[in-house]
Amino acid sequence: MKRNIFVTRPTLPPLEEFIPYLEQIWENKILTNGGPFHRQLEDELCRYLGVDNICLFTNGTIALVTALQALRVAGEVITTPYSFVATSHSLLWNGIKPVFVDVCASTLNLDPAKIEAAITPQTTAIMPVHCYGHPCDVEAIQKIADNYNLRVIYDAAHAFGVEDEEGSVLRHGDLSVLSFHATKVFNTFEGGAIICPDAKTKLRIDQLKNFGHVGEVNVVAPGINGKMSEFNAALGLLQLKHLDEAFARRKKIDLAYRERLHGVRGIHCLPGSGEKIANYAYFPILVKPDYPIARDELNERLKDKGIYPRRYFYPPISEFPMYRGLPSSYRENLPIAFEASGQVLCLPLYPDLEIEVVDEICRLIAEQ
Ligand SMILES: *Cc1c(COP(=O)(O)O)cnc(C)c1O
Repeated sequence: MKRNIFVTRPTLPPLEEFIPYLEQIWENKILTNGGPFHRQLEDELCRYLGVDNICLFTNGTIALVTALQALRVAGEVITTPYSFVATSHSLLWNGIKPVFVDVCASTLNLDPAKIEAAITPQTTAIMPVHCYGHPCDVEAIQKIADNYNLRVIYDAAHAFGVEDEEGSVLRHGDLSVLSFHATKVFNTFEGGAIICPDAKTKLRIDQLKNFGHVGEVNVVAPGINGKMSEFNAALGLLQLKHLDEAFARRKKIDLAYRERLHGVRGIHCLPGSGEKIANYAYFPILVKPDYPIARDELNERLKDKGIYPRRYFYPPISEFPMYRGLPSSYRENLPIAFEASGQVLCLPLYPDLEIEVVDEICRLIAEQ
């Protein structure tokens, strides 16, 4: 029997647990526009994540676009080339020029030491990514932002549930943006959110995601339709109930990979986030030059066995046609991002992945 093991597979709670939510929606006849499930999910997520204000969205990309609108970011924004393309696309959708700065080799997050050199009079903000859920150097980034009067908007699409010593990593910066896409650790099929520091900002974002409507006949901004529906909010409420269990299973798989790949020549596992609370969203390895075969060859050989890792993130965003012509996109400016992009492979990781399959994947990697 040919089985396929993909990089991720959504865990769905038992269907019968979802039926009561559907019945409630049918009974309420409120389908969207900030209905009861929407409000309940905002409350429960604030509690779960340990944040004060959250605005739910239809997806993470619209949330990113709206976050930039809410802070009236314009001109140039410093960002990372080592991410999913939606990070920079949100800038283009606001008519903002992305300025790519290289990442740190140890974390693959935006390198604070290289940010200052990229600041110009047009720079208004920094948009870093907590890549694979590993927190950015938030203090160094905030210091630069304070010195130059810049906004910080975190693309925190990978960082659901991640905590540092003082609490949620989502409290950093001016705003943090989450994605609840089907492939993420917490999903509502499609969905997203903005974490914001105060009720006033939340109010503005809630207006922007509802066409800029205030009351029945007032429109105060050229807003968008970014609202999360009751169906998606209900899915979120149900997923939340099973989340701790899912994180525990992810942790076990992460640990199994680390143990089994330890000492395999040419394979480098990116470090976990130590004692802090991680979410084990991804398991990226770097296939180094002293590994017997190239990354793409390893990828092909695993695929032949029905195992489908993903090259997150290959190529760097700066290589796509709409970014390639930018002055900051040239390869010499981004050596670490280019190197990592040529070596990275994200191995399968999802809650019901069997440890026997992890064994097999690691055996295949070790015996090349
Ligand atoms: C998934 C993801 C997004 C986009 O989120 P959607 O909900 O799919 O729109 C943005 N940035 C990063 C880093 C992501 O991984």
